[in-house]
Order: sequence, then C-alpha cells, then structure tokens
Amino acid sequence: AAWPKGMQFANRFARHLPGDFYAEVDPVPLPSPHLVAVSRDACRLLDLDPAEFERRDIVEMFSGNRTLGGTQALAAVYSGHQFGVWAGQLGDGRAHLLGELETSHGHFEVQIKGGGQTPYSRFADGRAVLRSSIREFLCSEAMAALGIPTTRALCITGSPQPVARETVETAAVVTRLAPSFVRFGSFEHWAALKRHDQLRTLADFVIDTQYPQLRGEPQPYAALLKEVALRTGRMVAHWQAVGFMHGVMNTDNMSILGLTLDYGPFGFMEAFDALHICNHSDSDGRYAYRAQPQIAHWNLYRLGNALYPLIDDADAARKAIEDGFGPGYNDTFFALMRAKFGLATAHESDDRLIRDWFQLLQDNHPDFTTVHRALAQLPAEVAEADRSGADAPLRDQFIDRDACDRWLAQWRARLALDPPRTDADRRAAMNAVNPKYVLRNWIAEGAIRAARDGDFSEIADVLRCLRHPFDEQPEFERYAAPPPDWANGLAVSCSS
Ligand code: AMP
Ligand code: MG
Ligand code: MG
Repeated sequence: AAWPKGMQFANRFARHLPGDFYAEVDPVPLPSPHLVAVSRDACRLLDLDPAEFERRDIVEMFSGNRTLGGTQALAAVYSGHQFGVWAGQLGDGRAHLLGELETSHGHFEVQIKGGGQTPYSRFADGRAVLRSSIREFLCSEAMAALGIPTTRALCITGSPQPVARETVETAAVVTRLAPSFVRFGSFEHWAALKRHDQLRTLADFVIDTQYPQLRGEPQPYAALLKEVALRTGRMVAHWQAVGFMHGVMNTDNMSILGLTLDYGPFGFMEAFDALHICNHSDSDGRYAYRAQPQIAHWNLYRLGNALYPLIDDADAARKAIEDGFGPGYNDTFFALMRAKFGLATAHESDDRLIRDWFQLLQDNHPDFTTVHRALAQLPAEVAEADRSGADAPLRDQFIDRDACDRWLAQWRARLALDPPRTDADRRAAMNAVNPKYVLRNWIAEGAIRAARDGDFSEIADVLRCLRHPFDEQPEFERYAAPPPDWANGLAVSCSS
C-alpha cells in the first residue's frame, strides 16, 4: 500500500541500532478489521487527511494486517522495575513499530499496540482488547489537549476476534505516535547485561536523534540524565495539577522523552483523596496519587544507575537527577497551582496557600475538577454580607464551610498582592488552565459500552469534547455532570 501523498516510512531505529535491540517481526493479521475511531488532531501531526481512513488498505495497515511497502515492522527489547522489583527482560510484547515518518510537524514513530505476539510476549497473547484501546486512545488525545506531554493516538481498529481476559472480549489495535518510544527500561536492559557498548550506543542514539543540543556538553550522558529528570518532573507536576493518576509507573512505562506513556488503569481524581489508588491491582498504593512525584524520582534513580557506567561519577549522576527533577517538578507544580488559583505573580506565601488548599480538599473530598473550575467564578472582592451567595459555587462543594471560608480569605488576601485585574480577566485566565472536562472513568466506560454494541459515535463525541477541555461546551454538559447511577463502583484493573 502506498502511504498517502507519497510519504515513505523510514526506520531510523533499525538503521542506527544493532539487531539485538529489536526483533524483526510482522504483526499477526486480525480477521475483518474495521475502523473504530480516528483522531483528526493526530492525523494533522502526520500531514494525513482523515478521509484517507476511508481507504481499506489504510485501515488494514493500522490493524497490522498489511505492512507498508518496503518496511519491516519490529518489536523493541527493554527491561524494567515493576512495582519496585527488578523484572528482567520485558520488551514490546504486543507492540510493533511499523515505521517512522518525517512530517511538517516533526519525526514520529508509528507504533501499533495489540498486533499479536512477538519474541517478547512471554506467555501472553500479544493482543489488546477494545475496552483498553478506547481508554488509551481517548486519554492520549485528552492529555495532549490539556497541554500535558504524552504519546499520541492516531486511530483504533477493531476486529471480532475474541480475546480472553476476565471475560471474553474482542481484539483491537491502537496506533500510537511519539518521536521515540525508548523507555528508562531500555537503558536498564543493557546495564543489567553489563553490555556497556550497547548502553553507549543507545545513549548516543537518543542524544543524536532526540537531544542533539546535548552533544556538545562536557558530560553528555550526565546532561541527558538531567534533561530526562527535568522533563519527567514537569510531566508529573502536570499530572498532579490536573489530578491524573497513571496507575503503573514501572520503569518500562517511563518515557525517555518525559511523555506520559502506556495508558492502562489510569484515572482522573474525582472526590479528592491524596491516597487514592486508581489501579485495583496496586493493593499497597505504590502508585497512589500522592506517591507519583516520589515514584518518578525513584525511577530516575533507576535510570541514573543504568547510565552510571557511562557517567562514571556518582556525584555527577546524583546532581544531574536533583538539578533536573527539583526545578522540573517544583517550578512547574507551583506555576500550575498559581495559575489554577488565578495568581499572576509568585509570592513566598504561595507554598502555604497551596498546602492549605490540599488539606482542605483532603478533609472534604470535593470533585477535583469541578472545585477548581468553580473557584474561577468567585469575585476577588466581596462584601461580608454577600459572601455566602457569591461564594456558593465553591462553598457548596465543602462539608466544612467555615474551613472553606477561611481558605477563601487567605486566597483573597493573596489576590490583593497581585497587580489589579478585573474578575473577568482573571476568570478567563483560570478557565484556560482549570479544565471543565476530563476523561472520567465513567465517561470512558460509556464510550466502551456503546462501542461494544457497535455504536462508535460516543467515542467520537467524547473525543470532540475533550479536544477542548477548557471551553464551555453546552452540547457536552453531560460530561461535566455527576456520574450516572450505573457508574457507581466502577473498578479498573490492570487487565488490558
Ligand atoms: P504493561 O504493564 O502493560 O506496561 O506491560 C508490561 C509488559 O507486559 C510489557 O513487556 C508488555 O509488552 C507485556 N504485555 C502486556 N500485555 C501483553 C499481552 N497481552 N501480550 C503480550 N505482552 C503483553
Ligand atoms: Mg533482532
Ligand atoms: Mg508498558
């Protein structure tokens, strides 16, 4: 099949890395593949007209039924720490790199997930189910629209092929895009094998292709570690500020580009609880909301250990992590929280204001998305007598209204230290950072249930809404409403 507009896949990964970094393996075709969903925004990244998906050969290509002329699909090897324990070799057990595209928006690896077994599948079937493919597709695109670093999702193809999980489901393939899918675990792999030659080859490949500005650094490998730490810190700060929980922050799911990678049992915080665990298979809460920054930091030390043979200086490695992660996480988190509060400047009391806010949320468990959105509605100044009315949109979300009032007094005192601006201006600025719509589990579940009945319009609606998470969209008011009754007690497991 010819790629539209005469574009050609090129394999930088295969061209630059020796054969033991991957296995050349074709996807296993699925019966009767059909298109389930396409992201127009992701199409744009590839300079691809969404209308091309009306072509049967394009759908077959993204279901893995057809390779692209001249390119060999491949599965990459990596290792990793899972739930804090060294797991040894893992690798792309159900992912195939179809090829790489140079477009007007950058360089993209095109990877399908769910394309069948590879040499790294171990005992698993190499498949992905429609349910988890819809979740990954919607969340990748929702995160991008929220301005959070992430891999992208181009499309979902489905098939009637049965796939056994807790129950029998059907197979699907999600097509993902990223400049690179290299993970922390890709480095851990060669470090564990004491193959320092391969470790250096990989580090040089990542620097040359993804971080060329680091080439001239006196210690390029320490500089790489610092840059990854910086980006990882920024990514997790975004997660915390929007209430995103990844669910499986194993080192094999940590992107070397600081992108949110591998959407499994993720969740968005609803009734706030810092200890919330979104993955029902994570009984110890290792990846609970509150733990995510520390876990990212811990994972960076695993990457630091892996890169250590190249850096050969423990202090330099440690310093690279701390100098990257500290500012990456803290500066980003504080900047995001200030913006969420409608503050235009930084002040030393902000730390206290943020802490007190999270304590208030912890004590009262309001919905994390709704509560931030409501804060924007409040006036900066209000007469004592009018307060309970003016503050009602926020206050009504708290059981302890006196505590809410006390925090609001702190907030207003802090707003008064900023240069003056109108409520309307501040409200617009706050609404541009506090989303109205996030991918709540029940919203994804509604799209999944409809899709199982053959109706893909709900996926398209959710995507259309979440492309503009900060805009008021009256037609999608239902996605900002409290969950429907059927959604009570929805649980998300690791199975996918
Ligand atoms: P995950 O926890 O989803 O990031 O996956 C961890 C490892 O298990 C990776 O090496 C995956 O490729 C592999 N894996 C997960 N599910 C499957 C599956 N259904 N078939 C083959 N490999 C899988
Ligand atoms: Mg090979
Ligand atoms: Mg993974």
